[in-house]
Amino acid sequence: MAGNKRTDRFSERTPRDRTPIVCSFCGKSRTEVEKMFKGRGDNYICDRCLTDSMEILKDERKSKIKSGIRELPKPKDLKTYLDQYVIGQEHAKKAIAVAVYNHYKRIMNNRNEITGTSDVELEKSNILLMGPTGSGKTLIAKTMAKFLDVPFAIADATTLTEAGYVGDDVENVLLRLIQNAADGDLDPESQNIDEIIARAEIGIVYIDEVDKIARKSENMSITRDVSGEGVQQALLKIIEGTISGVPAFGGRKHPQQRQIYLDTSNILFIVGGAFVGLEDIVKSRVGTKEIGFKAAEGGKPKEASEILKDVIPHDLVKYGLIPELVGRLPINLALCELTPAELRRILIEPKNSIIRQYQKLMEMEEIELVFTDEALDEIVHKTSERKTGARGLRAVIEGIMLDVMYNVPSMKNVKKCVISKEVITEGKEPMTA
Ligand code: ADP
Repeated sequence: MAGNKRTDRFSERTPRDRTPIVCSFCGKSRTEVEKMFKGRGDNYICDRCLTDSMEILKDERKSKIKSGIRELPKPKDLKTYLDQYVIGQEHAKKAIAVAVYNHYKRIMNNRNEITGTSDVELEKSNILLMGPTGSGKTLIAKTMAKFLDVPFAIADATTLTEAGYVGDDVENVLLRLIQNAADGDLDPESQNIDEIIARAEIGIVYIDEVDKIARKSENMSITRDVSGEGVQQALLKIIEGTISGVPAFGGRKHPQQRQIYLDTSNILFIVGGAFVGLEDIVKSRVGTKEIGFKAAEGGKPKEASEILKDVIPHDLVKYGLIPELVGRLPINLALCELTPAELRRILIEPKNSIIRQYQKLMEMEEIELVFTDEALDEIVHKTSERKTGARGLRAVIEGIMLDVMYNVPSMKNVKKCVISKEVITEGKEPMTA
C-alpha cells in the first residue's frame, strides 16, 4: 500500500543508531522539532523546513502566474489602450494609468522584498472615482483589468450589508473575483485552486455607488446612518488587506460552509460614485472666491467635476465616508460629465461602439447599416435629455433600432439601410437599397 511505503520511507531512526538526528537543512535536532523525515543516507528534513519549502514552491507558482504582469505595460501604454475604449476623461485616464502601473510595480517590488532585493515596502493605493453616472467609471476599471488580463469583479455598494443583515456579504464580492479568476468554473476541490486564488489575489475589484453608503452628513450626530457605516467598515477590512474567508459556494457565512481563504492585500480596489453635493462641501471649505466661482466677473461657473478636483480627505469625511476608509483611498479622481461632442464620439469611435455593434449584426445579414450625421446628432440630443451620460446611448439606439432589426432581415435584396434623422424624430421607415 502506498501509505505503508510512505511510512517506511519516512520512518524515524531507531534508538540503536548512535549519530544524533539533525535536520540537514536547519540543523535542529529531533527533540527540537515535531517531526523528522528521513531521506537518503544520513539526511533528514524536519517538519518546519518541509513546510517552508512547500511555501517557497507555492510562492514560485504564484510568481509564475504573475509573470504576465512582469511585463507590465508602461503608463503610456495603459493610457493608449484606454483611449481605444474610453472617450474623454483625459485626466482620469492618465492618473489611473499611473496608479495602476504603480500598484502592480508595488506587487513586484514587495515580492522582491521577500527575496531580499528591496528595502522599501510600498503601500497599496486604492482609487476613488468621483463622477456622474454614465461617465465611464466602471468602463475604465473594466478596461484596465482586461488589458492587464487580471480577474475583475464589480459590486454595488448599496447591495452590500454588514455580516448578519439581509443582503450580500462583502465576501461575496471576493467570491465573484475568484469565480472570474476561474473563468466562471470554480471548483473549490480542484487541483488548481491555489493558482486560481493566486490569480484572484492580484485582481481588480470595482465597487460602485459607494457614495450611497455614506452616513447622512446633515445632523451627523443625531441621524448617523449606522447600517451605511457598518458596510463601510466591512469594506474597509477587505480594502486595507486581510486574509478573508470566502464562502466557496456563496451565500451567508456560517461555520460549516467550505471557505476559500483569500489575501486581499494585493487586490486593487477602485471605488466609484456620483457624490452629488460633494462639490458644495468643497466650495464651502475653500470659499466661492478662491475656487474661481467667477460668474460675476464674466467667467463661467466651474463645473462640479472641476471643483471635485480640489477634494481633500476631510471633504469626503464630511460627506459621510468614515475616515479610515478615506485613508485607504488615497487616489481621488474626478470624472467630468460627458459633453454632447464626446457622446457623439462614443457612438462611433470606440472599438466596440454601439453603432459598430449594430453594423456588425447587420453585416451578418449582408446589409450595410449607415447612420446620417443628423441622425447621430439626434441620438446625442435625445441621450443628453435623459441625464444618464453615455449610459443612455444604448437605450436610445435600442429604441430606434427595434423596428429596423425586426423588419430588415426579412426584406429581400436589401444591401444597404440608412437611418436618417426622420427615422428617429418622425418614426419614418429607414431608406433601404
Ligand atoms: P459609470 O460612470 O456610471 O460607471 P459606465 O462606465 O458604467 O458608467 O458607463 C456605462 C456605459 O456607457 C459603458 O458601458 C459605455 O458603453 C458607455 N460609456 C460611459 N462613459 C464612456 C466613455 N467615457 N467613453 C466611452 N464609453 C462610455
